[in-house]
This record gives sequence, C-alpha cells and structure tokens, in this order.
Amino acid sequence: MSAVDDRLRPRVLVIGGGIAGLATGYLILALARERDIQPELTVLEAQDTAGGATRTEHIDGFTCEWGPNGFLDNEPATLDLIKRLGLQSRMIVASPSAAHRYIYHHGTMHEVPLDPMSFIRSDILPFAAKFRMALELAVPAKRDGADETVYDFAERRLGSSFARYLIDPMVSGIFAGNASELSLRAVFPKMVEMESDHGGLFRAMLAKRREAKKSGKRIGGPAGANASLTTFMDGMGELTATLARALSENIVTRSNVRAIHRRGEHFEVITEAKRLSSDAVIVACPSYAAASIVGELSHNAARSLRDIQYAPVDVVAHGHRVEDIGRELNGFGVLIPRGEQYRALGSLWCDAIFPNQAPKEMHLLRTMIGGAHDLSAADLSHDELEQLARDEHRLLYDVKQPPVFSKVIRHRKAIAQYTRGHLDRVRDTELLERQLPGLYFTGASYRGVSVNGCVKDAFRVARQVLELWKIS
Ligand SMILES: Cc1cc2nc3c(=O)[nH]c(=O)nc-3n(C[C@H](O)[C@H](O)[C@H](O)COP(=O)(O)OP(=O)(O)OC[C@H]3O[C@@H](n4cnc5c(N)ncnc54)[C@H](O)[C@@H]3O)c2cc1C
Repeated sequence: MSAVDDRLRPRVLVIGGGIAGLATGYLILALARERDIQPELTVLEAQDTAGGATRTEHIDGFTCEWGPNGFLDNEPATLDLIKRLGLQSRMIVASPSAAHRYIYHHGTMHEVPLDPMSFIRSDILPFAAKFRMALELAVPAKRDGADETVYDFAERRLGSSFARYLIDPMVSGIFAGNASELSLRAVFPKMVEMESDHGGLFRAMLAKRREAKKSGKRIGGPAGANASLTTFMDGMGELTATLARALSENIVTRSNVRAIHRRGEHFEVITEAKRLSSDAVIVACPSYAAASIVGELSHNAARSLRDIQYAPVDVVAHGHRVEDIGRELNGFGVLIPRGEQYRALGSLWCDAIFPNQAPKEMHLLRTMIGGAHDLSAADLSHDELEQLARDEHRLLYDVKQPPVFSKVIRHRKAIAQYTRGHLDRVRDTELLERQLPGLYFTGASYRGVSVNGCVKDAFRVARQVLELWKIS
C-alpha cells in the first residue's frame, strides 16, 4: 500500500460503546464515506452489550429506561444523527401534560409555574422570597471571572430561598448533583453569558423576548427554551441499538481496555486479551476509566481525569394499577428538595410523559435515589431500595397496593459532577490531545452530561479525526 493509500485506510479505535462512543464511531464512518476514506474502525466495549447507560428494557408492557428517559429536541447535532439513522419517524414528543412539573415543599406538592405571572401568583415561595427575586434586576454583575458554584450564583442573584427550594432540587434532578459544589460555568454556561452580556438574568430574558418579538420566533416550550422532551417508540435504547446495529461489524464487546501507549506515530491499545495498533484513539469511556488507561501517556491528564467525580444514582421503576394510586399523576413528575421528609430525589411519571411506556390503566413511576447529596444510598441493598421506594410512594402518591411491576437499576457511577475546576480538568485532556495528535476524549465526563451533549461532542471529534487525513 502506498503512503496515500495508508491514509485512506487509517485505523481508528474507539474505547467505550455508550452513546458517546457509538455516535463518534458511526459519524467517523459516515463522514469518511463522504470523502472516500474507509477507516478500519473498531469500538471496544467492556460489557457484553453496547449502549452504556442509554438502554431500554421492555418488561410486561412497561418501558423501563436504565438511564436517560429523553432528550431535548433543540440540539441540531442530535437531530442530524437521528436523520442519518433514519429514526425521525420513530421519534415521540412528550405529551402536553408533561409541561406540569411539581416540587415537594413543606409537606405539599406544588406545581412549578412556568411563566413570571403565574410564578408571582403561585404559593411556591413566600412573598419575601419573591420580592428578593425581583431585586435581581438591581444586583450588579460579577465580572471577576471566578469559578462560582451554581448555588452561590443563584443565592447572590435571586436569594437564598430560590437557591435552596428551586435550584438545588433542580440540580439534583438533572445532574444528581449538589448545587453548592457544581461549577456554574461548566454546567450552565449560558447563565454566565446572560450575566456578563446583559448584566443579569431578567435583563437577558427581556432582551431575548424583545429579539423574539422582532424575529417572530417562539422562546419557550414545555421542556425548556425552544425544546420538547423527546424519545423513540422503543425508548431511548432505540438510539443506541440502532447505532450498534449500524456498527455491528465494528463492535467488539467484552473488550476491557487497560492502557494506551504511544509507539512512534501510532498508538498501542491494550485490552485484557490483545494489543492493537491504531492511528487514532477515541477515549469514550467515563473519565474514571480513562484515568487509568492514559496513566502512561500523561500523569497530569490522568490526575485531572481521576478528579472528575461521579455521583451514584439508583433507579426504582414501579408499575401500579391506576386505581391503586390515590393521586392523579398527570405531569412530568416531582422533585424533592433535601431537608423534606423523603430520601428520594424525585420521580418521573413515565406514562404521563410518554403514554406508550405503560400498559393501559397502569402508571409507571421511576424514582431516583442517591446523587451527590446522598452518597450512602449506594450502600443500600436491592431490597432496601425497593422498600424505600414503596414506603415513599405510599406517602407521596397515596399508593394503596404493592406494585404490579418492579425493577431496580443501579448506577454506582451515574453522572459526572462538573464541580469547581472542571473546565481546568477538561483543558488538561485537551492539552494531551494537542501533544498527541490522533488521541481524543469524548463522552459525558467532559462537555455536557446529556445525550445531546454527548452527540454534539461526537460530531466535534469525528470532524477532527477526519482532519487528520486531509489529503492536500
Ligand atoms: C439514571 C440516569 C438518568 C439520566 N437521564 C438523562 C436524561 O433524561 N436525558 C439525558 O440527556 N441524559 C440523561 N442521563 C445522562 C446520559 O444518559 C449519560 O450521560 C450518557 O448516557 C453517557 O454516555 P457515555 O457514552 O458518555 O457513557 P456511558 O453510557 O457510561 O458509556 C460508556 C461505556 O464505556 C464502557 N467502558 C468503560 N470502561 C471501559 C474500558 N476500560 N474499556 C472499554 N469500554 C469501557 C462502558 O461499559 C460503557 O458502555 C442520565 C443518566 C443516568 C445514569
């Protein structure tokens, strides 16, 4: 083979077959085909099936998600991937009732108001707390560049009640995180921008509203700005299963990668069974696994990878007959702030969000336990988790009979915690990428914990890999 032919048949290894690794592998092949390059690509996955946390089980008519229950349909990268996979007609948007979200506060479930007027009218916070929020307009912008926590930012701009009763549970619900530890610029970079560009959140919202009025664009949806929560007919696992089918020839399961070495211009990847040589290596396993794999390439990057903590989350899914539940479950679900009488972080009311996820006349509750506030939940046994969910469901939802279906899914390391200093840690991985062209880090550990974040980053990496073989 000539040197040019070699460049047209480069070898690529992807470590980890979750949504990040599968999407990156698929996109490298798809983008390479458009440029007449045929890489020899292999995805090495430690488990016996690919998919990682994005996996769905169908049991007795219930759709049981291991990890994500959906994605927001406002990320062009995810929509592009879905189009390439031919999955558009399989998409399901959350039903309108999912716009009703609840928060448990002082012994009652309150609906979270979605617009400023209903917020003012609601009893979700006392008058003094609402008044303090209104003063946000007068709070000066902080421009010292410090890596502020989400909680400190919310408290400084909107007051301590807002931070405690709304922001902290929201952060628990999205990141299983502790708002007092997470870095605002790493998890909500848009809020940093809103403050630096407009002087505050309300000012930024007013500017956006003015802009939207001019352009005629809508500025909000039930699941967030311009977005609807979306899944697939067979659940989120349909996305990873479709990717895995498209890559079936390229995936090697039960391949636990132990180390990467640099050998001249190439990389050597060591699994329990083999040594593989490659031109490019995409590290798409979680940072804690990546830390030991890259130890020999850079102590500094390995240390930074090790410093990215993960929070545990246990998911308890319970199916109940509608008649056995005393409360109407017509909404997205409920978040429970710390300090209330419950240990669970909250529940999703799955069939109210996506009606096909439970049989007729049944409800499916998906309750999360653990997170950064409650690390010891990881020590509870399967039976203790099951009992905890039953006890708390009984009180929260007036459940009168035991569940007709139950499944406990344990994630000892569920969601990466972008704590203060996170962006410096990511920069250490980027430094190693620059030092060793052909090496990339991607996945939920770095630039976004969501499925959208993983897919967006998969495009970035796939395009950069293709740049390696640009033929002048
Ligand atoms: C309970 C829960 C609920 C969530 N809800 C949502 C949601 O509603 N919406 C949303 O957008 N996101 C949600 N997320 C986040 C999202 O699911 C994850 O961030 C995303 O799935 C991570 O994908 P990943 O590919 O980076 O990692 P993973 O899915 O963890 O995949 C990594 C893969 O690497 C493999 N691996 C590990 N070590 C090695 C090794 N040494 N060699 C080879 N392979 C290895 C693993 O076996 C795994 O398959 C949720 C996550 C959890 C846990």
